[in-house]
Amino acid sequence: MNGIRRVGVLGAGLMGSGIAQVAASCGFDTVVRDVSESALARGRAAVEKSLAKFVEKGQLLGDARDAALQRMTWSTDLGAVATTDIVIEAVTEDLPLKTALYRDLHPRTADETIFASNTSSLSIVTLAAASGRPDRFVGLHFFNPVPLMPLVEVVRAVTTSEATFARALAFARGLGKDAVAARDGSGFIVNRLLVPYLLDAVRSLEQGTGSVADIDRAMMLGCGHPMGPFTLLDFVGLDTTLRIGEIMFDEYREPRFAPPALLRRMVAAGWLGRKSGRGFYDYSVNPPVVAM
Ligand code: NAD
Repeated sequence: MNGIRRVGVLGAGLMGSGIAQVAASCGFDTVVRDVSESALARGRAAVEKSLAKFVEKGQLLGDARDAALQRMTWSTDLGAVATTDIVIEAVTEDLPLKTALYRDLHPRTADETIFASNTSSLSIVTLAAASGRPDRFVGLHFFNPVPLMPLVEVVRAVTTSEATFARALAFARGLGKDAVAARDGSGFIVNRLLVPYLLDAVRSLEQGTGSVADIDRAMMLGCGHPMGPFTLLDFVGLDTTLRIGEIMFDEYREPRFAPPALLRRMVAAGWLGRKSGRGFYDYSVNPPVVAM
């Protein structure tokens, strides 16, 4: 598809592992790179668990699961992704970290290789400018959990070439996703609207408008949302939401993007949501119970 056969993924966290799973399931040879063996092992376990659920539900054959797993390579070596046709970066939401990674990767990677970032809030042109290949750089913003969420925002920086944008759009569709084109403004389409809502839910809790359980239930039953804001915050990761809020506040200077104190305190405590076992809910028990 548009010359893309091998996919590199940087980061084996929530998003990186999901993107890699979808790419491998769609027939792409997929290489995942993270900084430690333990991060890779967590990512691989998440993929195995997710694929097992698809098999259990009869949505995937055992053979297809095995083939997807065989198409995946896991490595701590940055050079392992250098031979791929598109590198999708899904590392921690941190500008210096991301730009340092592109600087390392660019000289080792073929000219035709596209760099894509899954950033939620950083500007694509800032990343593109630092990447050494501003014309072959694009935003590919997936949603969590990637195997289940159909949307990808394809984000064109002012430097992105027409050909790169077209290849990235075709690639996103080749992953079975519904792609929308979004402008390169912090938060793109979805987070521009969603992040203030999530941060306001935390402010409502701080102000005693309702309890975690009641605010979640109210937004589900009153607005038809599939889950309430605190359940969603725990899914996204409180550390990731905090970083996104900080970056969006820096960009827009509007109070609605400012992370509330309670969110900062929870992140400082290591309560990051589902991925750490505790956020607004406690995930050590099944079903999870309210922890705040
Ligand atoms: P995460 O904390 O689950 O995973 C980040 C991973 O990056 C970790 O495994 C970490 O070890 C790894 N990493 C750090 N430095 C690295 C490096 N130099 N090379 C390779 N790997 C490195 O975070 P996440 O939720 O997967 O978010 C990743 C990106 O995706 C962020 O830019 C975030 O804004 C974006 N995003 C997140 C969501 C969400 O719902 N969590 C949704 C869309 C986009």
